[in-house]
Amino acid sequence: MTDIIDGNAVAADVRDGLGAAIGTLTDAGHTPGLATVLMSDDPASETYVSMKQRDCAEVGIESRHVELAPDAPAEDLYDTVDDLNADPEIHGILVQMPVPDHVDTRRVLRSVDPAKDVDGFHPENVGRMVAGHARFKPCTPHGIQKLLEAYDVETAGAEAVVVGRSDIVGKPMANLLIQKAPLGNATTTICHSRTEDLAAHTRAADVVVAAAGVPEFITGDMLSEGTTVVDVGVNRVEADTEKGYELVGDVAFESAEAVAGAITPVPGGVGPMTRAMLLWNTVKATSEQTGVDVTL
Ligand code: NDP
Repeated sequence: MTDIIDGNAVAADVRDGLGAAIGTLTDAGHTPGLATVLMSDDPASETYVSMKQRDCAEVGIESRHVELAPDAPAEDLYDTVDDLNADPEIHGILVQMPVPDHVDTRRVLRSVDPAKDVDGFHPENVGRMVAGHARFKPCTPHGIQKLLEAYDVETAGAEAVVVGRSDIVGKPMANLLIQKAPLGNATTTICHSRTEDLAAHTRAADVVVAAAGVPEFITGDMLSEGTTVVDVGVNRVEADTEKGYELVGDVAFESAEAVAGAITPVPGGVGPMTRAMLLWNTVKATSEQTGVDVTL
């Protein structure tokens, strides 16, 4: 029997678990506050940001949204981040990526106060995570750790393969998997578009994390019996639906499910966890900035 890893259920548990901490902070006069900044008219980015605001409202986190025209001067974005850095009611800042080409992405990432960098993308926070004392773990890999934990997937001593080496998913995921901390200790291989014979790597893996952004390209014949498959991919493919498309992962679900020991679906797997861990990081940020202790 293959376990279908239910990201919606685990994410709901994470959100429930935050309730007491948010209550404590709010009672102490420090309602957690998350700012989202959008400088794009890409419908997917707009959807992501509005989902994050809805998530905040559900758990009692204040959200503030700042929207900038995609053709606004880059300085407007830098100034917005500076203002939010200085605002004591804002504990977490999320600049929705990608930003337009005329904006210096690295400058934006560097300009967010590391204490409010709930995405975990500031170089200081990346460094802290790599050094093994993370302040904020990036939301997607952190969410995957929580999923694996919830389903008792043993990573210690396991062979893990991460497909994809992006700064937001692949690299931090691999980094968390190799750490000595609980939920780590895996022997970890990172694959990418220049990897020779990807299937040889994935077949040797006990845990495969697919984060390449290529629709359904990890197939059952690339996996071994009993492997845990985590599908990060969210790909729009044309389909005969009302919207004209559907979302699929990087994994061909049916063929992989026939082989895997456990597998995340798309949607309903990693996506809800990414959102839940943003709330988690915002609560942690609030606690650290205000000095009000909470249990997370
Ligand atoms: P990027 O495009 O930044 O990185 C993709 C990585 O996959 C690159 O390292 C690339 O290699 C590698 N890759 C591409 N094609 C292949 C291939 N055929 N074989 C092996 N490796 C390949 O993507 P992201 O990391 O930002 O996102 C990955 C996917 O996850 C996307 O579908 C994205 O939408 C989704 N996503 C989902 C989230 C969620 O919450 N569910 C959150 C974030 C992302 P190279 O470096 O050599 O180019």
